[in-house]
Amino acid sequence: MNYEDRLRDREVAIFLFHGVTHPNACSVRNYTRKHLDADYFAFVIRRLKACGTPISMEDIRLHYEDGRLLPPKAFAITFDDGFENNLTVAAPILLKEKVPATFYVTTGLVDSNLMAWIDRIEYAVELRPQGSLKLPWGERAFQGAEGRKELLSEIRTYVKRDSSINSDGLASDIQQQLNVPLTYASDHPLDRKLDWHQVGTLAAEPSFIVAGHSHTHRILEHLPDAELEWEINTSLKLLEEKAGVRSVHYSYPEGLSFCYSDRVISALKQRGIRCCPSAEDGTNGSSADLFHLKRIMVI
Ligand SMILES: [Zn+2]
Repeated sequence: MNYEDRLRDREVAIFLFHGVTHPNACSVRNYTRKHLDADYFAFVIRRLKACGTPISMEDIRLHYEDGRLLPPKAFAITFDDGFENNLTVAAPILLKEKVPATFYVTTGLVDSNLMAWIDRIEYAVELRPQGSLKLPWGERAFQGAEGRKELLSEIRTYVKRDSSINSDGLASDIQQQLNVPLTYASDHPLDRKLDWHQVGTLAAEPSFIVAGHSHTHRILEHLPDAELEWEINTSLKLLEEKAGVRSVHYSYPEGLSFCYSDRVISALKQRGIRCCPSAEDGTNGSSADLFHLKRIMVI
């Protein structure tokens, strides 16, 4: 895919990344290309810069709120979740290329180094070439790299669609069924999260914005009002207390259309958030809305 082909005049393209790593030897983990190789990431950034104009999420906010003009073929770079490699691998490339970026950090994963539920499941399945699992929607046998990838894709789909499934409970259950030690945190390059000092280092860089991405990475639309407010308040409070970050920017965990709603948007607005992109695919024209901005996932 030539991502530069998605750049347009009078539109803004927002690219979504999670991690950038040096090559690693996993057979199943990272099959969704959540983490890109550093060389490929640098290649994508250089191609975008050669064809378009990098701007920040703050430039985008000012465009839609105040009518500030967009440069030709404007694009922005964003990262979700807060992996350590954002600072150690991606940031040096972005600084060298003079490309601004926004890092949306899940505050509950900072310092604790906790893994997201799906990463805990991928970690366990990586260790078991074959087996079978009793899942809430049926029993599934799996074998080989392809079989395991199909299983993981099925788990992703079911859990994201069904708010009654406790994703962290399911991850523990799967680790136990596969006889893998219960694992909540890992120092593997695919897992390691930023610590608060590193969040502060990113935030101190003038061309970078650090912003919220919930506290526990649960789908906000699945939460009752009180828990929704707790997720938003806790994440914003920790960003300010631990890293001195006050931002009007935020991004929804998972970010698909069923993951947020007018209720979620109004809760974010009440806490001063003014711009929150989704993870739905697309570019943004003149009539776009700051709480429904589309992004392009780079894989
Ligand atoms: Zn996320």
